[in-house]
Amino acid sequence: MIKGNQELVFCSLGGAGEIGMNLNLYGYGKHRDYKWIIVDIGVTFSEENAPGIEVILPNPDFIVEQSENLLGILLTHAHEDHVGAIAHLWPMLKCPIYATPFTASIVREKFKEKKINIGSYLKVIELNSTVTLEDFKVEYITLTHSILEPNGLAIHTPVGTVMHTADWKIDENPLIGNPIDQKKLIEIGKKGVLAMICDSTNIFNLGSTGSESEVRDNLITVFEKMKNRVVITAFASNVARMESIFKAAEKAGRVVSLVGRSMGRIYDLARQCGYLQNIKPPIDVRDAKKIPKNKIVYLCTGSQGEQRAALSRIASGTHPDVHLEENDNVLFSARIIPGNEKKLFSLFNKFSKSKINVLSEENALIHVSGHPSRDDLKKMYQWVRPKIAVPVHGENRHLAEHINFAKEMGVEFPTQVENGDVLRLYPNEPKVIDKVTWGRVYLDGKVLIHQDSYVLKERRNMASNGYMEISVLINKNGKIHNSPIITLQGIPLEDADMDEIEYDIEDTVLKTCKAFSLNNAKQEKNLIETLRINSRKVITDKSGKKPLVNVNLIRL
Ligand SMILES: [Zn+2]
Ligand SMILES: [Zn+2]
Repeated sequence: MIKGNQELVFCSLGGAGEIGMNLNLYGYGKHRDYKWIIVDIGVTFSEENAPGIEVILPNPDFIVEQSENLLGILLTHAHEDHVGAIAHLWPMLKCPIYATPFTASIVREKFKEKKINIGSYLKVIELNSTVTLEDFKVEYITLTHSILEPNGLAIHTPVGTVMHTADWKIDENPLIGNPIDQKKLIEIGKKGVLAMICDSTNIFNLGSTGSESEVRDNLITVFEKMKNRVVITAFASNVARMESIFKAAEKAGRVVSLVGRSMGRIYDLARQCGYLQNIKPPIDVRDAKKIPKNKIVYLCTGSQGEQRAALSRIASGTHPDVHLEENDNVLFSARIIPGNEKKLFSLFNKFSKSKINVLSEENALIHVSGHPSRDDLKKMYQWVRPKIAVPVHGENRHLAEHINFAKEMGVEFPTQVENGDVLRLYPNEPKVIDKVTWGRVYLDGKVLIHQDSYVLKERRNMASNGYMEISVLINKNGKIHNSPIITLQGIPLEDADMDEIEYDIEDTVLKTCKAFSLNNAKQEKNLIETLRINSRKVITDKSGKKPLVNVNLIRL
């Protein structure tokens, strides 16, 4: 029942204008007095201008302020860009979390790692079930993607239905799990869909994306031809791919050994959820050394060239258990994600230099994407027939192209949004009616910091300009005791210049101090600042660098 003047809004706090850190909000209620649900809560990975930061999360400030009106978090699937932020942000939100069994098992691990007892807040729901949260009736619909249990959500409200696809493609034979639930999608399309919020990752790819089963067939052929050791890397979370690798290995008379923590972890979780039951179990990597080299397949983490992952260590010869020789084989059964080319090509080069054969998506069909190409998208639009189309899960160029595509598909209101836009879907034509706080927060060690935090400014400054510390000892009579202690780090000066520089700084410190009364505490702040500026100038004149300077006044 519609209780007068109700609105339905959509707002993305992450994922519109980037591929990564998806965080979507739906609000229903009176104008600016909505009840909210969150769909997905992911992370993205480090950027070059944030030294020391590996994990980046969406800024949750807006929904944290609204947490009293937050009904729950609904997760579509277990990829990091959809669930990676959950254990970091949930303590600020404290609401129920809904996920299907495999996704829930990944989420439970994340809370365990953070030592949070998530207990009954985590609600495990069956595939194809419906979650009712006040006016939201959220129906989980089985789609196909590159992970177990990918779900789209049909979000039914009293004023209309929104189809939130999350990540998907059309795979007629996904190997594990059911094919995409076309019947259901057509059915909700027939009943009328107000808006579709849809994946844009592969909008520039013509044709259809293809099936995991094609990759399995190709891996079987490739493995059968291979001599010597086979090392293969793929995303651990792609369990169908993992199963294909086991099957291809078995056909070629090889056994599989899992290398890298997350590979073993996902294998165990998948087994606990009832998947991967009909494969020959893997052998321990320490035992693999005893197996003839034409009888083994190492399935490794590190498909994106991650430095600490197994494959990078194998490439640099520092892995304790896996050693490769001439004519061994390394297969990259994963996409070369834009931005990771440098890291990956440097790995390819290391292997090539050691005369190890490298196969990747560049020269073999051993990977297929999990996202919809244009023919898949066309079918989805024909099934769902939304009135409004809102592209997400893409950079701006993807979203703009998806808008053109939706126009071609005859969608009445293709609507492009940015993170932080509050888009009113109902009533009237879609319109951005508010802009809320959005942005990024960084996981720095164990601490969350804002993207414009002074910590990062300092660290960038230190990284590019070096560091100087000056300690000045002041005795009871207000005189300088001995010489100031000077420490320089990361400043490009020859040893021969050091004595001179230290002498110059000492001289500057003494001259600067003369202008102050060292016993006068009121002058202290001013004195420190003047010392900082004057001694930095000495370094700048000599080296051209402007180091971060720290001055300590120590009273004896
Ligand atoms: Zn995904
Ligand atoms: Zn995704």
